[in-house]
Amino acid sequence: MRKKYVAGNWKMNLTLADAKALVQGIAAGMPANAGVDVAVFPPFVLLHPLAAVIGGSIQLGAQNCHYEASGAFTGEIAPQMLLDVGCKSVIIGHSERRHIFGETEELLKKKVMAALKVGLKVIYCVGEKLDEREAGQTEAVLHRQIHKVLGADVPLDEVTIAYEPVWAIGTGKTASPQQAQDAHAYIRGQIGKLYNAKAAEAVRIQYGGSVKASNARELLGQPDVDGALVGGASLKADEFLGIIKGAQPA
Ligand code: PEP
Repeated sequence: MRKKYVAGNWKMNLTLADAKALVQGIAAGMPANAGVDVAVFPPFVLLHPLAAVIGGSIQLGAQNCHYEASGAFTGEIAPQMLLDVGCKSVIIGHSERRHIFGETEELLKKKVMAALKVGLKVIYCVGEKLDEREAGQTEAVLHRQIHKVLGADVPLDEVTIAYEPVWAIGTGKTASPQQAQDAHAYIRGQIGKLYNAKAAEAVRIQYGGSVKASNARELLGQPDVDGALVGGASLKADEFLGIIKGAQPA
């Protein structure tokens, strides 16, 4: 039985004071023995101060990293630096990194390898754009995003996959539970081909795209949906807690 995993991607939001209040609000409302893994992914500059106030039931992660260990890469952050300030994981390949900042699968593979090498867990994001879905290319896009980045040289134990259809991110349009389930089943099938049946059964696949407290239970109730990567709704303690509750075993 895969444990559900709810992660909050704060993107480029919140002041330090608001961020502290948010983690404190989440910690205060966390159900005891929630039976759900929970993590938040604040902007880089908030990671160190939040590490000091974050509770044991909430893990800290970063939204991105560079693939080199150090050097002349102005404005970039190395994976080891994230570990140093208390991060346990990092998001790689978010659609905003792919489509606004032009990150390619070749680059993302280097980032995934570099993060895993230092001991960070990875949330690797995949997902098709609206025109790709409408052209019937969803599976072809997911196939490329998975096969070009994951594989025998990438240990999967510390990787969570997030399926985030780009047309559902920040738009209020959620994939239907069946659309999410179909994509997740396809991704799990590809992991089976790339690794083996045991790895496919074990890997957690989160859904992301306008998840809220009101739709979490139905989406996360699908057999291949193992949690949520949440953007907008992770900025409000009540909403985020509602999603965590929706992820709890019945
Ligand atoms: C995201 O950016 O990962 C995301 C899913 O955003 P939202 O929940 O706001 O759609």
